[in-house]
Amino acid sequence: MTTLALEDLRVRYPGAEAAVLKGLSLTLPLGGIACLLGPSGCGKSTALRAIAGFEPLSGGRVLLGDRVLSGPGVHVEPEHRGVGLLFQEIALFPHLTAAANVGFGLRRRPGAERDHRVRELLALVGLDELGSRMPHELSGGQQQRVALARALAPSPRLLLLDEPFSSLDAVTRDRLATEVRDILRDAGQTALMVTHDADEAEAMGDWIGVMAGGRLVEWRPTQAMATG
Ligand code: ADP
Repeated sequence: MTTLALEDLRVRYPGAEAAVLKGLSLTLPLGGIACLLGPSGCGKSTALRAIAGFEPLSGGRVLLGDRVLSGPGVHVEPEHRGVGLLFQEIALFPHLTAAANVGFGLRRRPGAERDHRVRELLALVGLDELGSRMPHELSGGQQQRVALARALAPSPRLLLLDEPFSSLDAVTRDRLATEVRDILRDAGQTALMVTHDADEAEAMGDWIGVMAGGRLVEWRPTQAMATG
């Protein structure tokens, strides 16, 4: 069953001569983790922003399940897409505890249900004991795990990750990449990540999509997927 389908996605920035995305197509099955890999400037972040609903399309469609999110005459607002985001810049609310950050997207849920979900998520990312800490009392890797828990809390149908480890040191980055892959697998979370690091893509993904010049030039299972 396919979750995400990009059909001939085209994005052209206002005033630019050429389109940045020139017909990007891919399908990502339910529960799959895919990494978009490619050199700086090839359009990876633009693709993620278009899927999240922050860039209008000049052509093509974005579908999640059988729902059209973007397409001719259709533009679902980002907050109504059921899509979670994790970016390179760790953007926790500095005046809220780790637990309150995780619960931020659950504000409308009843208190007991919300507290239960927050505890579940903090445990999932290995921070059960640190919910009462403020962001500045956590390491960079811990902060990014809180950001991951916050993104997963509302159970998004799709998680988008844009170079989520690149602001961390190399050791933390490698460890966190493996941890996050396991967390996403355990949660059965469908995810699309952008990276320019081939090793990271191989470690994280079930599939690798290689982009060049605003198009997908290769789509293949990673070694982990190929060997089961
Ligand atoms: P990548 O993530 O692969 O590095 P991007 O999607 O960030 O690539 O950028 C692709 C191209 O689009 C680059 O040439 C970049 O300069 C251009 N670009 C990105 N964002 C904008 C914008 N908001 N306005 C105009 N051009 C942009």
